[in-house]
Amino acid sequence: MNDKNRLIELLKLRAASKNAALDDEILQELSKEPLFTGFTASAAVFMRDIIEAVLIEDMQSALDGIFHLSEDEIPDEYAESFLLLAQNLCAVCEYAEGWVLFNKNYIRFLLDDERPDEAMVIISDLEEVLPGDNELKSFRDRAGVTKVERVAIFGVSKCGEALAQRIEAVSNNKYRVTHFCDRTGKYVGEKINGAEIVSVEKLAVLHRTRQIDKLIVAFSGYTEPKLSMIYRMLKTAGITKNVFTVPPWFYDGAYDFVHESLQPFDGGAEMALDDALIEADMSREVLDFIMPLSNLNCNSSCRSCLVASPLTKPGYISLQSYRDDITRLRELYWHVCRFRISGGEPLLHPELAEMVKITREAFPITGLAIQTNGLLLLKDDGKFDELLEVMHKNRCGFQVSTYQPIIDQRDKLGKILSDHGVQWHWGQISGKPVESFWIFRMLEPVNDMEHAHRTCFTDKHCHTLYNGYVYPCFLPGSSEVIEKHFNVKFEDMAENMDKMRMDIHNTEMDGWEISRYLTKPTPMCRYCCFEQVRKVKWEQCQRSEAKLEDFVLV
Ligand code: SF4
Ligand code: SF4
Repeated sequence: MNDKNRLIELLKLRAASKNAALDDEILQELSKEPLFTGFTASAAVFMRDIIEAVLIEDMQSALDGIFHLSEDEIPDEYAESFLLLAQNLCAVCEYAEGWVLFNKNYIRFLLDDERPDEAMVIISDLEEVLPGDNELKSFRDRAGVTKVERVAIFGVSKCGEALAQRIEAVSNNKYRVTHFCDRTGKYVGEKINGAEIVSVEKLAVLHRTRQIDKLIVAFSGYTEPKLSMIYRMLKTAGITKNVFTVPPWFYDGAYDFVHESLQPFDGGAEMALDDALIEADMSREVLDFIMPLSNLNCNSSCRSCLVASPLTKPGYISLQSYRDDITRLRELYWHVCRFRISGGEPLLHPELAEMVKITREAFPITGLAIQTNGLLLLKDDGKFDELLEVMHKNRCGFQVSTYQPIIDQRDKLGKILSDHGVQWHWGQISGKPVESFWIFRMLEPVNDMEHAHRTCFTDKHCHTLYNGYVYPCFLPGSSEVIEKHFNVKFEDMAENMDKMRMDIHNTEMDGWEISRYLTKPTPMCRYCCFEQVRKVKWEQCQRSEAKLEDFVLV
Protein backbone atom coordinates (compact mmCIF):
# COMPACT_ATOMS: atom_id res chain seq x y z
CA MET A 1 0.00 0.00 0.00
CA ASN A 2 1.44 3.40 -0.86
CA ASP A 3 1.78 6.33 1.54
CA LYS A 4 -1.37 8.02 0.39
CA ASN A 5 -3.53 4.96 0.80
CA ARG A 6 -1.94 4.18 4.16
CA LEU A 7 -2.83 7.60 5.46
CA ILE A 8 -6.35 7.41 4.11
CA GLU A 9 -6.88 4.00 5.68
CA LEU A 10 -5.55 5.26 8.97
CA LEU A 11 -7.80 8.27 8.95
CA LYS A 12 -10.81 6.18 8.06
CA LEU A 13 -10.08 3.74 10.86
CA ARG A 14 -9.78 6.53 13.36
CA ALA A 15 -12.90 8.21 12.13
CA ALA A 16 -14.86 4.98 12.35
CA SER A 17 -13.68 4.04 15.81
CA LYS A 18 -13.70 7.40 17.48
CA ASN A 19 -15.16 10.09 15.36
CA ALA A 20 -13.41 12.55 17.62
CA ALA A 21 -10.51 14.93 17.67
CA LEU A 22 -7.09 13.33 17.55
CA ASP A 23 -5.40 13.21 20.86
CA ASP A 24 -1.71 12.89 21.69
CA GLU A 25 -2.03 9.14 21.80
CA ILE A 26 -3.30 9.04 18.26
CA LEU A 27 -0.69 11.46 17.10
CA GLN A 28 1.93 9.26 18.65
CA GLU A 29 0.52 6.32 16.77
CA LEU A 30 0.47 8.27 13.56
CA SER A 31 4.06 9.26 14.12
CA LYS A 32 5.04 5.60 14.01
CA GLU A 33 4.17 5.69 10.37
CA PRO A 34 7.25 6.25 8.21
CA LEU A 35 5.33 9.18 6.83
CA PHE A 36 5.77 11.10 10.05
CA THR A 37 9.18 9.90 11.05
CA GLY A 38 11.56 12.69 11.79
CA PHE A 39 9.02 15.47 11.69
CA THR A 40 9.61 18.48 13.91
CA ALA A 41 7.37 18.80 16.90
CA SER A 42 5.79 22.05 15.73
CA ALA A 43 5.12 20.65 12.30
CA ALA A 44 3.65 17.53 13.84
CA VAL A 45 1.31 19.61 15.97
CA PHE A 46 0.25 21.46 12.89
CA MET A 47 -0.35 18.20 11.18
CA ARG A 48 -2.53 17.06 14.03
CA ASP A 49 -4.73 20.12 13.51
CA ILE A 50 -4.93 19.41 9.84
CA ILE A 51 -5.86 15.78 10.36
CA GLU A 52 -8.47 16.80 12.92
CA ALA A 53 -9.95 19.17 10.40
CA VAL A 54 -10.08 16.36 7.85
CA LEU A 55 -11.82 14.07 10.31
CA ILE A 56 -14.53 16.54 11.06
CA GLU A 57 -14.72 17.20 7.33
CA ASP A 58 -13.64 20.79 7.67
CA MET A 59 -11.72 20.63 4.38
CA GLN A 60 -11.12 24.33 4.07
CA SER A 61 -9.29 24.44 7.42
CA ALA A 62 -7.26 21.41 6.44
CA LEU A 63 -6.19 23.00 3.19
CA ASP A 64 -5.44 26.31 4.92
CA GLY A 65 -3.28 24.37 7.34
CA ILE A 66 -1.31 22.68 4.60
CA PHE A 67 -0.40 25.98 3.05
CA HIS A 68 0.11 27.76 6.36
CA LEU A 69 3.04 25.51 7.13
CA SER A 70 5.37 26.53 4.35
CA GLU A 71 8.45 24.67 3.18
CA ASP A 72 10.67 27.42 4.57
CA GLU A 73 9.63 26.52 8.06
CA ILE A 74 10.70 22.94 7.64
CA PRO A 75 14.30 22.05 8.41
CA ASP A 76 16.09 20.50 5.42
CA GLU A 77 16.30 17.08 6.97
CA TYR A 78 12.50 16.97 7.30
CA ALA A 79 11.67 18.42 3.92
CA GLU A 80 10.96 15.06 2.32
CA SER A 81 8.57 13.97 5.05
CA PHE A 82 6.79 17.28 4.81
CA LEU A 83 6.38 17.09 1.03
CA LEU A 84 5.09 13.52 1.21
CA LEU A 85 2.67 14.41 3.95
CA ALA A 86 1.45 17.51 2.17
CA GLN A 87 0.77 15.73 -1.14
CA ASN A 88 -0.99 12.91 0.67
CA LEU A 89 -3.23 15.33 2.53
CA CYS A 90 -4.06 17.10 -0.70
CA ALA A 91 -5.07 13.70 -2.07
CA VAL A 92 -7.25 13.05 0.99
CA CYS A 93 -8.88 16.45 0.54
CA GLU A 94 -9.19 15.84 -3.19
CA TYR A 95 -7.39 19.09 -3.80
CA ALA A 96 -5.86 18.37 -7.20
CA GLU A 97 -3.92 21.60 -7.64
CA GLY A 98 -2.28 21.20 -4.24
CA TRP A 99 -1.47 17.58 -5.03
CA VAL A 100 0.24 18.61 -8.27
CA LEU A 101 2.07 21.45 -6.53
CA PHE A 102 3.50 19.27 -3.77
CA ASN A 103 4.34 16.47 -6.20
CA LYS A 104 6.28 18.90 -8.35
CA ASN A 105 8.07 20.20 -5.27
CA TYR A 106 8.84 16.63 -4.31
CA ILE A 107 10.28 15.94 -7.81
CA ARG A 108 12.45 19.04 -7.45
CA PHE A 109 13.59 17.84 -4.05
CA LEU A 110 14.51 14.37 -5.41
CA LEU A 111 16.41 15.83 -8.35
CA ASP A 112 18.33 18.18 -6.01
CA ASP A 113 19.05 15.14 -3.87
CA GLU A 114 20.42 13.34 -6.98
CA ARG A 115 17.75 10.65 -6.98
CA PRO A 116 16.61 10.80 -10.63
CA ASP A 117 15.16 7.26 -10.73
CA GLU A 118 12.76 8.00 -7.88
CA ALA A 119 11.89 11.35 -9.46
CA MET A 120 11.11 9.60 -12.76
CA VAL A 121 8.44 7.44 -11.15
CA ILE A 122 6.55 10.56 -10.03
CA ILE A 123 7.21 12.38 -13.30
CA SER A 124 5.66 9.45 -15.22
CA ASP A 125 2.63 9.43 -12.88
CA LEU A 126 2.11 13.15 -13.31
CA GLU A 127 2.54 13.01 -17.09
CA GLU A 128 -0.50 10.79 -17.25
CA VAL A 129 -2.68 13.52 -15.77
CA LEU A 130 -0.76 16.46 -17.26
CA PRO A 131 0.30 15.36 -20.76
CA GLY A 132 2.50 17.95 -22.48
CA ASP A 133 3.26 19.87 -19.26
CA ASN A 134 6.45 21.88 -19.92
CA GLU A 135 7.66 21.83 -16.32
CA LEU A 136 7.47 18.03 -16.29
CA LYS A 137 9.37 17.94 -19.58
CA SER A 138 12.15 20.01 -18.03
CA PHE A 139 12.18 17.71 -14.97
CA ARG A 140 12.50 14.75 -17.34
CA ASP A 141 15.40 16.42 -19.15
CA ARG A 142 17.03 17.14 -15.82
CA ALA A 143 16.58 13.56 -14.71
CA GLY A 144 18.27 12.56 -17.98
CA VAL A 145 16.12 9.49 -18.19
CA THR A 146 14.14 8.61 -21.28
CA LYS A 147 10.48 7.88 -20.74
CA VAL A 148 9.62 4.23 -21.10
CA GLU A 149 6.72 4.06 -23.53
CA ARG A 150 4.12 1.40 -22.91
CA VAL A 151 3.26 -0.49 -26.06
CA ALA A 152 0.29 -2.69 -26.80
CA ILE A 153 0.49 -5.03 -29.78
CA PHE A 154 -2.64 -5.82 -31.74
CA GLY A 155 -2.37 -9.46 -32.70
CA VAL A 156 -1.28 -12.60 -30.87
CA SER A 157 -0.17 -14.59 -33.91
CA LYS A 158 3.49 -15.36 -34.52
CA CYS A 159 3.72 -11.93 -36.10
CA GLY A 160 2.65 -10.35 -32.81
CA GLU A 161 5.20 -12.35 -30.86
CA ALA A 162 7.95 -11.66 -33.41
CA LEU A 163 7.16 -7.95 -33.18
CA ALA A 164 7.38 -8.02 -29.37
CA GLN A 165 10.75 -9.75 -29.57
CA ARG A 166 12.04 -7.18 -32.02
CA ILE A 167 10.83 -4.31 -29.82
CA GLU A 168 12.56 -5.88 -26.85
CA ALA A 169 15.77 -6.30 -28.85
CA VAL A 170 15.98 -2.79 -30.28
CA SER A 171 14.10 -0.56 -27.85
CA ASN A 172 17.03 0.30 -25.58
CA ASN A 173 14.59 0.42 -22.65
CA LYS A 174 12.60 3.08 -24.44
CA TYR A 175 9.60 0.84 -25.12
CA ARG A 176 8.02 -1.90 -23.06
CA VAL A 177 5.33 -4.25 -24.38
CA THR A 178 2.70 -4.27 -21.66
CA HIS A 179 -0.31 -5.74 -23.48
CA PHE A 180 -1.37 -7.80 -26.46
CA CYS A 181 -4.83 -7.62 -27.96
CA ASP A 182 -6.64 -10.70 -29.23
CA ARG A 183 -9.68 -9.67 -31.31
CA THR A 184 -11.10 -13.22 -31.16
CA GLY A 185 -11.16 -13.25 -27.34
CA LYS A 186 -9.71 -16.78 -27.38
CA TYR A 187 -6.53 -15.95 -25.47
CA VAL A 188 -7.82 -13.07 -23.34
CA GLY A 189 -6.46 -13.27 -19.77
CA GLU A 190 -3.38 -15.26 -20.79
CA LYS A 191 0.08 -13.72 -20.93
CA ILE A 192 2.94 -13.55 -23.40
CA ASN A 193 6.26 -12.88 -21.65
CA GLY A 194 4.41 -11.22 -18.78
CA ALA A 195 2.29 -8.97 -21.01
CA GLU A 196 -1.44 -9.49 -20.57
CA ILE A 197 -3.64 -10.45 -23.52
CA VAL A 198 -6.75 -8.26 -23.56
CA SER A 199 -9.93 -7.93 -25.60
CA VAL A 200 -10.56 -5.06 -28.04
CA GLU A 201 -12.92 -3.48 -25.47
CA LYS A 202 -10.28 -3.56 -22.72
CA LEU A 203 -7.71 -2.24 -25.20
CA ALA A 204 -10.00 0.73 -25.85
CA VAL A 205 -10.17 1.47 -22.10
CA LEU A 206 -6.39 1.21 -21.72
CA HIS A 207 -5.99 3.53 -24.69
CA ARG A 208 -8.56 6.05 -23.44
CA THR A 209 -7.10 6.18 -19.94
CA ARG A 210 -3.57 6.51 -21.34
CA GLN A 211 -2.37 3.30 -19.79
CA ILE A 212 -0.70 2.55 -23.09
CA ASP A 213 1.30 5.07 -25.11
CA LYS A 214 1.38 3.31 -28.47
CA LEU A 215 -0.66 0.64 -30.17
CA ILE A 216 1.21 -1.23 -32.90
CA VAL A 217 -0.69 -3.46 -35.29
CA ALA A 218 1.21 -6.67 -35.98
CA PHE A 219 0.22 -7.89 -39.37
CA SER A 220 1.52 -10.42 -41.84
CA GLY A 221 -0.52 -9.16 -44.76
CA TYR A 222 -1.58 -12.62 -45.79
CA THR A 223 -3.93 -13.97 -43.20
CA GLU A 224 -7.36 -12.82 -42.16
CA PRO A 225 -8.39 -10.40 -40.89
CA LYS A 226 -7.31 -7.97 -43.54
CA LEU A 227 -5.55 -4.86 -42.36
CA SER A 228 -8.46 -2.65 -43.44
CA MET A 229 -10.73 -4.72 -41.20
CA ILE A 230 -8.43 -4.28 -38.20
CA TYR A 231 -8.36 -0.51 -38.59
CA ARG A 232 -12.13 -0.42 -38.95
CA MET A 233 -12.43 -2.46 -35.77
CA LEU A 234 -10.15 -0.07 -33.89
CA LYS A 235 -12.08 2.95 -35.15
CA THR A 236 -15.36 1.41 -34.03
CA ALA A 237 -13.83 0.89 -30.58
CA GLY A 238 -12.92 4.60 -30.46
CA ILE A 239 -9.18 4.09 -30.98
CA THR A 240 -8.17 6.73 -33.51
CA LYS A 241 -4.84 8.05 -32.26
CA ASN A 242 -1.39 6.69 -31.49
CA VAL A 243 -1.94 3.67 -33.72
CA PHE A 244 1.13 2.52 -35.61
CA THR A 245 2.31 -0.18 -37.92
CA VAL A 246 5.76 -1.30 -39.02
CA PRO A 247 7.04 -2.44 -42.43
CA PRO A 248 7.11 -6.19 -43.07
CA TRP A 249 10.92 -6.27 -43.10
CA PHE A 250 11.10 -5.01 -39.52
CA TYR A 251 9.98 -8.35 -38.12
CA ASP A 252 12.72 -10.36 -36.55
CA GLY A 253 15.33 -9.59 -39.11
CA ALA A 254 12.75 -10.20 -40.86
CA TYR A 255 9.80 -11.04 -43.02
CA ASP A 256 9.00 -13.10 -46.05
CA PHE A 257 6.89 -10.53 -47.88
CA VAL A 258 4.98 -13.01 -49.97
CA HIS A 259 4.23 -15.87 -47.65
CA GLU A 260 3.41 -15.73 -44.02
CA SER A 261 6.75 -16.84 -42.67
CA LEU A 262 9.72 -15.25 -41.04
CA GLN A 263 12.96 -15.29 -42.98
CA PRO A 264 16.05 -13.11 -43.16
CA PHE A 265 15.38 -9.95 -45.10
CA ASP A 266 18.29 -7.71 -45.82
CA GLY A 267 18.61 -4.71 -43.54
CA GLY A 268 15.59 -5.27 -41.31
CA ALA A 269 17.65 -6.53 -38.39
CA GLU A 270 19.45 -3.23 -37.92
CA MET A 271 16.34 -1.10 -38.09
CA ALA A 272 15.51 0.96 -35.00
CA LEU A 273 11.89 0.94 -33.88
CA ASP A 274 11.65 4.73 -34.14
CA ASP A 275 12.60 4.47 -37.83
CA ALA A 276 10.19 1.61 -38.44
CA LEU A 277 7.07 3.07 -36.83
CA ILE A 278 4.52 4.55 -39.22
CA GLU A 279 1.52 6.26 -37.67
CA ALA A 280 -1.83 5.27 -39.13
CA ASP A 281 -3.96 8.02 -40.59
CA MET A 282 -7.27 6.80 -39.26
CA SER A 283 -9.19 9.40 -41.26
CA ARG A 284 -8.37 7.53 -44.47
CA GLU A 285 -8.82 3.97 -45.67
CA VAL A 286 -6.10 1.36 -45.97
CA LEU A 287 -6.04 -0.81 -49.10
CA ASP A 288 -5.22 -4.46 -48.55
CA PHE A 289 -4.02 -5.50 -51.97
CA ILE A 290 -3.77 -4.22 -55.52
CA MET A 291 -2.20 -5.47 -58.74
CA PRO A 292 -1.19 -2.63 -61.04
CA LEU A 293 -0.84 -4.05 -64.57
CA SER A 294 2.23 -2.80 -66.43
CA ASN A 295 1.29 -4.35 -69.80
CA LEU A 296 -1.04 -7.07 -71.03
CA ASN A 297 1.24 -8.94 -73.42
CA CYS A 298 3.42 -11.82 -72.32
CA ASN A 299 6.35 -13.87 -73.62
CA SER A 300 4.89 -17.14 -72.40
CA SER A 301 1.56 -17.45 -74.22
CA CYS A 302 -0.24 -19.91 -71.97
CA ARG A 303 -3.37 -21.32 -73.50
CA SER A 304 -6.46 -20.05 -71.57
CA CYS A 305 -4.51 -17.28 -69.79
CA LEU A 306 -7.01 -15.39 -67.60
CA VAL A 307 -5.62 -12.05 -68.78
CA ALA A 308 -5.92 -13.23 -72.40
CA SER A 309 -2.28 -12.27 -72.92
CA PRO A 310 -1.76 -14.52 -75.95
CA LEU A 311 -4.35 -12.42 -77.78
CA THR A 312 -2.84 -9.02 -76.98
CA LYS A 313 -0.42 -6.96 -79.00
CA PRO A 314 2.72 -5.41 -77.47
CA GLY A 315 1.92 -2.20 -75.61
CA TYR A 316 2.65 -0.73 -72.20
CA ILE A 317 1.08 1.55 -69.71
CA SER A 318 2.92 4.89 -69.90
CA LEU A 319 5.10 5.91 -66.99
CA GLN A 320 3.11 9.12 -66.62
CA SER A 321 -0.15 7.22 -66.40
CA TYR A 322 1.37 4.86 -63.81
CA ARG A 323 2.69 7.78 -61.79
CA ASP A 324 -0.71 9.52 -61.91
CA ASP A 325 -2.47 6.36 -60.73
CA ILE A 326 -0.06 5.75 -57.86
CA THR A 327 -0.24 9.42 -56.82
CA ARG A 328 -4.02 9.17 -56.80
CA LEU A 329 -3.90 5.96 -54.75
CA ARG A 330 -1.72 7.80 -52.23
CA GLU A 331 -4.43 10.45 -51.91
CA LEU A 332 -7.09 7.80 -51.41
CA TYR A 333 -5.22 5.47 -49.04
CA TRP A 334 -2.70 6.17 -46.28
CA HIS A 335 -1.26 2.70 -46.79
CA VAL A 336 -1.47 -0.16 -49.26
CA CYS A 337 -0.63 -3.40 -47.56
CA ARG A 338 0.57 -5.33 -50.62
CA PHE A 339 1.41 -4.27 -54.17
CA ARG A 340 2.03 -6.83 -56.84
CA ILE A 341 3.03 -5.30 -60.17
CA SER A 342 1.61 -7.72 -62.67
CA GLY A 343 0.79 -8.20 -66.36
CA GLY A 344 1.03 -9.93 -68.85
CA GLU A 345 4.72 -10.18 -68.19
CA PRO A 346 5.96 -7.03 -66.41
CA LEU A 347 9.58 -7.71 -67.43
CA LEU A 348 8.53 -6.67 -70.94
CA HIS A 349 7.90 -3.13 -69.71
CA PRO A 350 10.99 -1.04 -70.51
CA GLU A 351 10.47 1.28 -67.52
CA LEU A 352 9.68 -1.28 -64.86
CA ALA A 353 12.53 -0.07 -62.63
CA GLU A 354 10.97 3.41 -62.57
CA MET A 355 7.61 1.89 -61.70
CA VAL A 356 9.20 0.16 -58.71
CA LYS A 357 10.74 3.44 -57.56
CA ILE A 358 7.46 5.36 -57.96
CA THR A 359 5.55 2.75 -55.97
CA ARG A 360 8.09 2.56 -53.15
CA GLU A 361 8.32 6.35 -52.89
CA ALA A 362 4.56 6.66 -52.54
CA PHE A 363 4.15 3.69 -50.18
CA PRO A 364 7.32 3.35 -48.09
CA ILE A 365 6.26 0.30 -46.10
CA THR A 366 4.13 -1.62 -48.55
CA GLY A 367 4.96 -5.26 -49.31
CA LEU A 368 6.11 -4.82 -52.90
CA ALA A 369 6.58 -7.57 -55.48
CA ILE A 370 6.64 -8.11 -59.24
CA GLN A 371 4.73 -11.09 -60.55
CA THR A 372 6.63 -12.81 -63.35
CA ASN A 373 6.93 -16.09 -65.19
CA GLY A 374 10.70 -15.59 -64.68
CA LEU A 375 11.76 -16.87 -68.10
CA LEU A 376 13.31 -13.61 -69.31
CA LEU A 377 15.57 -13.44 -66.26
CA LEU A 378 17.28 -16.69 -67.16
CA LYS A 379 19.33 -15.12 -69.97
CA ASP A 380 21.25 -13.12 -67.34
CA ASP A 381 22.70 -10.96 -70.11
CA GLY A 382 22.86 -7.77 -68.03
CA LYS A 383 19.60 -6.48 -69.49
CA PHE A 384 17.93 -6.54 -66.08
CA ASP A 385 20.88 -5.46 -63.93
CA GLU A 386 19.50 -1.97 -63.37
CA LEU A 387 16.04 -3.32 -62.52
CA LEU A 388 17.49 -5.85 -60.08
CA GLU A 389 19.55 -3.17 -58.37
CA VAL A 390 16.50 -0.93 -58.02
CA MET A 391 14.49 -3.86 -56.68
CA HIS A 392 17.18 -4.67 -54.13
CA LYS A 393 17.39 -1.06 -52.95
CA ASN A 394 13.61 -0.69 -52.79
CA ARG A 395 12.89 -4.00 -51.09
CA CYS A 396 10.91 -5.30 -54.00
CA GLY A 397 10.86 -9.04 -54.67
CA PHE A 398 9.62 -11.38 -57.37
CA GLN A 399 6.63 -13.63 -57.13
CA VAL A 400 7.32 -16.30 -59.73
CA SER A 401 4.40 -18.14 -61.30
CA THR A 402 4.88 -21.87 -61.02
CA TYR A 403 4.86 -22.99 -64.64
CA GLN A 404 6.92 -26.03 -65.54
CA PRO A 405 9.55 -24.27 -67.73
CA ILE A 406 10.76 -22.08 -64.87
CA ILE A 407 10.45 -24.78 -62.22
CA ASP A 408 12.87 -26.82 -64.33
CA GLN A 409 15.35 -23.93 -64.06
CA ARG A 410 14.78 -22.99 -60.45
CA ASP A 411 18.42 -23.36 -59.37
CA LYS A 412 19.62 -21.07 -62.11
CA LEU A 413 16.92 -18.52 -61.33
CA GLY A 414 17.70 -18.68 -57.60
CA LYS A 415 21.40 -18.07 -58.19
CA ILE A 416 20.86 -15.12 -60.53
CA LEU A 417 18.49 -13.43 -58.10
CA SER A 418 20.50 -14.10 -54.97
CA ASP A 419 23.62 -12.72 -56.74
CA HIS A 420 21.67 -9.48 -57.07
CA GLY A 421 20.26 -9.61 -53.53
CA VAL A 422 16.68 -9.88 -54.75
CA GLN A 423 14.15 -11.96 -52.85
CA TRP A 424 11.83 -14.25 -54.73
CA HIS A 425 9.12 -16.79 -54.00
CA TRP A 426 6.90 -19.10 -55.89
CA GLY A 427 3.40 -17.80 -56.58
CA GLN A 428 2.00 -21.00 -55.16
CA ILE A 429 3.24 -21.72 -51.66
CA SER A 430 3.75 -25.40 -52.48
CA GLY A 431 6.03 -24.51 -55.42
CA LYS A 432 4.27 -27.24 -57.40
CA PRO A 433 3.68 -26.66 -61.12
CA VAL A 434 0.35 -25.34 -62.34
CA GLU A 435 -1.12 -28.26 -64.18
CA SER A 436 -4.36 -26.83 -65.43
CA PHE A 437 -6.33 -23.65 -66.03
CA TRP A 438 -10.02 -23.18 -65.42
CA ILE A 439 -12.50 -21.80 -67.90
CA PHE A 440 -15.65 -20.43 -66.31
CA ARG A 441 -16.59 -17.38 -68.42
CA MET A 442 -19.60 -17.37 -70.77
CA LEU A 443 -20.56 -15.06 -73.59
CA GLU A 444 -24.03 -14.43 -72.14
CA PRO A 445 -24.81 -12.99 -68.71
CA VAL A 446 -26.57 -16.16 -67.51
CA ASN A 447 -25.76 -16.19 -63.81
CA ASP A 448 -27.02 -14.34 -60.77
CA MET A 449 -24.20 -11.93 -59.99
CA GLU A 450 -24.46 -12.31 -56.20
CA HIS A 451 -24.31 -16.07 -56.47
CA ALA A 452 -21.41 -16.06 -58.93
CA HIS A 453 -19.47 -13.65 -56.74
CA ARG A 454 -20.10 -15.75 -53.66
CA THR A 455 -18.76 -18.86 -55.35
CA CYS A 456 -15.91 -17.07 -57.12
CA PHE A 457 -12.38 -18.11 -56.25
CA THR A 458 -10.60 -15.05 -57.63
CA ASP A 459 -12.25 -12.01 -56.09
CA LYS A 460 -10.08 -11.88 -53.00
CA HIS A 461 -6.80 -11.81 -54.89
CA CYS A 462 -7.29 -10.13 -58.24
CA HIS A 463 -8.07 -6.45 -57.66
CA THR A 464 -6.30 -4.77 -60.52
CA LEU A 465 -5.33 -1.23 -61.49
CA TYR A 466 -4.88 -0.31 -65.13
CA ASN A 467 -4.80 3.04 -66.85
CA GLY A 468 -6.74 4.97 -64.21
CA TYR A 469 -9.29 2.29 -63.40
CA VAL A 470 -9.58 -0.33 -60.68
CA TYR A 471 -11.24 -3.65 -61.53
CA PRO A 472 -12.39 -6.28 -59.05
CA CYS A 473 -10.68 -8.87 -61.27
CA PHE A 474 -9.07 -9.47 -64.71
CA LEU A 475 -12.27 -10.39 -66.48
CA PRO A 476 -13.65 -7.08 -67.79
CA GLY A 477 -10.34 -6.11 -69.42
CA SER A 478 -9.55 -9.54 -70.85
CA SER A 479 -13.13 -9.95 -72.11
CA GLU A 480 -12.66 -6.81 -74.22
CA VAL A 481 -9.48 -8.35 -75.65
CA ILE A 482 -11.37 -11.59 -76.44
CA GLU A 483 -14.15 -9.61 -78.14
CA LYS A 484 -11.69 -7.84 -80.41
CA HIS A 485 -9.59 -10.86 -81.27
CA PHE A 486 -12.44 -13.26 -82.06
CA ASN A 487 -14.89 -10.61 -83.23
CA VAL A 488 -17.54 -11.76 -80.74
CA LYS A 489 -19.72 -9.88 -78.25
CA PHE A 490 -20.23 -10.49 -74.56
CA GLU A 491 -23.92 -9.66 -74.48
CA ASP A 492 -24.55 -6.18 -73.01
CA MET A 493 -21.03 -5.98 -71.54
CA ALA A 494 -20.15 -2.72 -73.29
CA GLU A 495 -23.31 -1.05 -71.94
CA ASN A 496 -22.34 -2.07 -68.40
CA MET A 497 -18.60 -1.42 -68.59
CA ASP A 498 -18.85 1.68 -66.36
CA LYS A 499 -20.15 -0.59 -63.57
CA MET A 500 -17.41 -3.18 -64.08
CA ARG A 501 -14.56 -0.82 -63.26
CA MET A 502 -14.13 2.35 -61.27
CA ASP A 503 -12.34 5.53 -62.28
CA ILE A 504 -9.98 6.26 -59.38
CA HIS A 505 -9.52 9.84 -60.56
CA ASN A 506 -13.19 10.60 -59.98
CA THR A 507 -12.84 13.12 -57.17
CA GLU A 508 -16.29 12.30 -55.81
CA MET A 509 -14.98 8.92 -54.68
CA ASP A 510 -12.92 8.28 -51.57
CA GLY A 511 -10.88 5.26 -50.55
CA TRP A 512 -13.70 3.78 -48.47
CA GLU A 513 -16.08 3.76 -51.46
CA ILE A 514 -13.51 2.29 -53.81
CA SER A 515 -12.62 -0.48 -51.35
CA ARG A 516 -16.30 -1.31 -50.89
CA TYR A 517 -16.76 -1.42 -54.64
CA LEU A 518 -13.85 -3.82 -55.12
CA THR A 519 -15.33 -6.43 -52.83
CA LYS A 520 -18.86 -6.38 -54.26
CA PRO A 521 -20.32 -8.24 -57.25
CA THR A 522 -20.43 -6.34 -60.53
CA PRO A 523 -22.44 -7.07 -63.70
CA MET A 524 -19.33 -8.89 -65.04
CA CYS A 525 -19.95 -11.63 -62.47
CA ARG A 526 -23.08 -12.65 -64.40
CA TYR A 527 -20.84 -14.18 -67.08
CA CYS A 528 -19.10 -16.50 -64.61
CA CYS A 529 -20.39 -19.95 -63.93
CA PHE A 530 -18.27 -21.90 -61.49
CA GLU A 531 -20.66 -24.85 -61.51
CA GLN A 532 -19.85 -25.50 -65.15
CA VAL A 533 -16.13 -24.87 -64.93
CA ARG A 534 -13.99 -26.62 -67.56
CA LYS A 535 -10.50 -27.69 -66.64
CA VAL A 536 -7.85 -27.53 -69.37
CA LYS A 537 -4.30 -28.79 -69.25
CA TRP A 538 -1.69 -26.04 -68.93
CA GLU A 539 0.33 -25.63 -72.11
CA GLN A 540 1.86 -22.92 -74.23
CA CYS A 541 0.41 -22.10 -77.65
CA GLN A 542 0.98 -19.72 -80.54
CA ARG A 543 -1.29 -16.67 -80.90
CA SER A 544 -2.45 -18.06 -84.24
CA GLU A 545 -3.50 -21.34 -82.56
CA ALA A 546 -5.69 -19.69 -79.90
CA LYS A 547 -9.39 -20.56 -80.09
CA LEU A 548 -12.44 -18.95 -78.54
CA GLU A 549 -13.11 -22.07 -76.45
CA ASP A 550 -9.68 -21.63 -74.83
CA PHE A 551 -11.14 -18.61 -73.02
CA VAL A 552 -14.91 -18.99 -72.95
CA LEU A 553 -17.39 -21.76 -72.13
CA VAL A 554 -19.01 -22.29 -75.53
S1 SF4 B 1 2.68 -16.44 -67.96
FE1 SF4 B 1 0.96 -17.35 -68.96
S2 SF4 B 1 -0.76 -17.04 -67.58
FE2 SF4 B 1 0.86 -15.63 -66.97
S3 SF4 B 1 0.38 -13.75 -68.09
FE3 SF4 B 1 1.81 -14.92 -69.33
S4 SF4 B 1 0.51 -16.05 -70.71
FE4 SF4 B 1 -0.78 -15.37 -69.03
S1 SF4 C 1 -16.33 -11.34 -62.70
FE1 SF4 C 1 -16.97 -11.61 -60.56
S2 SF4 C 1 -17.36 -13.79 -60.34
FE2 SF4 C 1 -16.19 -13.52 -62.23
S3 SF4 C 1 -14.07 -13.81 -61.69
FE3 SF4 C 1 -14.47 -11.63 -61.53
S4 SF4 C 1 -15.12 -11.26 -59.42
FE4 SF4 C 1 -15.23 -13.47 -59.79
